[in-house]
Amino acid sequence: MRGTLVATSIALVVLLGYALSCAVRPYRDCWLCDGKAHHRSKRNPKLSRPCRWCRSTGKRLRLGRRMWNRARRVHREA
Ligand SMILES: [Zn+2]
Repeated sequence: MRGTLVATSIALVVLLGYALSCAVRPYRDCWLCDGKAHHRSKRNPKLSRPCRWCRSTGKRLRLGRRMWNRARRVHREA
């Protein structure tokens, strides 16, 4: 019983820390272009194209932040 309580509080602290880090830094570098907004074609390495994954911004919203935005939208529309 005590172990469950400890595990639950640890999970809660980790979740809170993640939520806080998402609130402080909602964006992270795009995994495809490494934050450069352009990535090189595999067939022709000299060719650099705008990254479609991040819409050539080099940044992606973090998963936690995306979930938070969705939750807020659902809450607002209800
Ligand atoms: Zn990208």
